[in-house]
Amino acid sequence: MNLLLIRLIVFAVLFFAGLKLYRMYREWKLDREQVAQAGAEGGQMVRCAWCQVHLPEDDALRDKGEWFCSRDHRDKYLEERRDGS
Ligand SMILES: [Zn+2]
Repeated sequence: MNLLLIRLIVFAVLFFAGLKLYRMYREWKLDREQVAQAGAEGGQMVRCAWCQVHLPEDDALRDKGEWFCSRDHRDKYLEERRDGS
């Protein structure tokens, strides 16, 4: 009778430990997927056509097929192109 109780307790402990490990693994996997997704979406770097500085795509301006770090540089670049041609 006593042995059966011990077996039950051991089984219960193993069961909950396994459940906890499984949850930890699931959370860890979810975290990794989120990090991978963030890297794929926000990690793209582009270069300002005027000052050659690299910046994330999200912060950049796009105009006439070129990337710019600011409106000021876009205006300067387009102005120079207009003068040059
Ligand atoms: Zn720039």
